[in-house]
Amino acid sequence: MNKKNIFENILKKKIPANILYQDKKVTAFTDISPKAPVHILVIPNFFIKNLNEINKKNLNILSHMMYVSIKLAKINNIHESGYRIIINCNKNSGQEIQYLHIHILGGKKLKKI
Ligand code: AMP
Repeated sequence: MNKKNIFENILKKKIPANILYQDKKVTAFTDISPKAPVHILVIPNFFIKNLNEINKKNLNILSHMMYVSIKLAKINNIHESGYRIIINCNKNSGQEIQYLHIHILGGKKLKKI
């Protein structure tokens, strides 16, 4: 399966995911291979390949993704202990799935970057 299709198929409910939040613009679900006790992905409900595809027209999706991520950090009670938000872009970052997504990581002390 084309790796962008994994997230498209989660949106279409063709493959299962633990969906934690959804609104008109974004969907959040648990990462299948968590790197921390809390590891949530937030994706737009429409396809954007990665940060390089952000332009003046679609820019506001990023602020909404961030807003929802902060809200989810609070809901999961990692906002006081601390958390990290990551967006990988292309090969050197390790981006595996070519569909824009935010990682929210927390619930343990993360390695300093
Ligand atoms: P990235 O390396 O930034 O592209 O992150 C892709 C993330 O998607 C990885 O952390 C994977 O564990 C996660 N992932 C891959 N397939 C699924 C899936 N079916 N459901 C939830 N998370 C997934």
